Amino acid sequence: MAIREPFPELEEILASIGEGGQRIATIDAAEGAAGNISVCIGWPIEIRRRFHVVEEIRLPQRAAHLAGWYVIVSGSGRRLRDIAADPVANLGVVRIGDDGATGTLLTSPRRLFERLTTEWNSHLAVHDDTVARTGTNFHAVVHGQPPHLAYLSHLPAYRDEDWLSRRLLRWEPETIINLPAGIGVLPFMLPGSQALMEANVQSLRTHRIVLWSKHGVMSRSDVSVTRAVDRIEYAETAARYEYMDLVNGERAEGLTHDEMRAVVEAFDVKTTIV
Ligand SMILES: [Zn+2]
Repeated sequence: MAIREPFPELEEILASIGEGGQRIATIDAAEGAAGNISVCIGWPIEIRRRFHVVEEIRLPQRAAHLAGWYVIVSGSGRRLRDIAADPVANLGVVRIGDDGATGTLLTSPRRLFERLTTEWNSHLAVHDDTVARTGTNFHAVVHGQPPHLAYLSHLPAYRDEDWLSRRLLRWEPETIINLPAGIGVLPFMLPGSQALMEANVQSLRTHRIVLWSKHGVMSRSDVSVTRAVDRIEYAETAARYEYMDLVNGERAEGLTHDEMRAVVEAFDVKTTIV
């Protein structure tokens, strides 16, 4: 998918990041300074009027497909719930250099952070990989720490990707419609590490959301921040049902295989899960 003209303006994009941050906080997935959001934009957009402090930076790894693009990303230590009230103080904008290895960080004089988010390498890598694979001109990535999903990943059985998806997609018909490839699962990896960045890119090639065991999730959308946040909400709601059922002695039926099949056929969902 790609966004068509007339392209959204900076103010609209900043507002959508703020709104996404508030929704992530509303579902308790952004305690303290946990969680981060970024979008990459592949059309000309006026940035410097709001973000006019200029600094040259080295990118954590090459992002050759984003040369000349803008990536708007949350600052390290900032709170997702605070972005809406003052986006320019909480967000930085990186114009990716023509070499794909360096960038220009544009910030506001009111900037409240030293560095970009600790997961900046994962955000950048997923954007670059998705743009290369799909040709989209817009991409949003959201990292949150929803407690029911994170809790389930502490149970060894739920770190099996097939098991997790089968267990979670059975609670509401919407879940398989919105997450037709299920939920990717990674083992625990150090936050911000190269290993997490690489495994995360790999999993988000086939999934719209991936669970980082004992930590949180990352979701993506080529439509909007809202859509990426929706994916976290659907997965977390499913995990809450699953947790309720475990606590209640697994007495619930869940959607049966036939009921799931009926949903998949009625809504023409391309999936291999049922
Ligand atoms: Zn985190």
